[in-house]
Amino acid sequence: MDAQTPDFTIAVEAVKGRCPAGERYALEQIAQRRTPVLACEGPCIRGEIARLAANLVAAQGPGLARACHAEAFFVPHSAMSQWVRGAERSVMIDGCFLQCHGRVLRQLTAPQRVIHFDAFRLHRKYADVFSMDDVPEAQRRETAREVADAVLGELSKTEPSAALPGT
Ligand code: SF4
Repeated sequence: MDAQTPDFTIAVEAVKGRCPAGERYALEQIAQRRTPVLACEGPCIRGEIARLAANLVAAQGPGLARACHAEAFFVPHSAMSQWVRGAERSVMIDGCFLQCHGRVLRQLTAPQRVIHFDAFRLHRKYADVFSMDDVPEAQRRETAREVADAVLGELSKTEPSAALPGT
């Protein structure tokens, strides 16, 4: 079996309406010129650590805020999508080298606008584990903290006005 996937597209069904809370939140982030922070949020331990780390990064990084990747990707008329697509920079934390959501985000915006992190490369734990329930919660949180600290350290090295609008 070929271990590589060529570029491909998938069709997404149309949808009507908007999430009222998501609209209010995203419009506020646009007004404040905050940088979106997204995570792959996969259900395995790697995705869960990425999700927890993204929450910590967004809470602590100046000018950063969590974005909903699914609404940004699949509800193109939403303010969430408008925010993410229009941001000068986005921070994307994927759970592993497959970069599932980073690969989409780079197409949705532009590769140079995405500051991408592979959380597994930053912690290198639980390589043979799938379910997050097989790792105690305290360890999940401790590992996410390690990842978040590494991400925040890298972001602090970037040029603030370019990487973190709103700071
Ligand atoms: S990047 Fe890795 S952890 Fe995240 S959704 Fe893809 S396969 Fe799962």
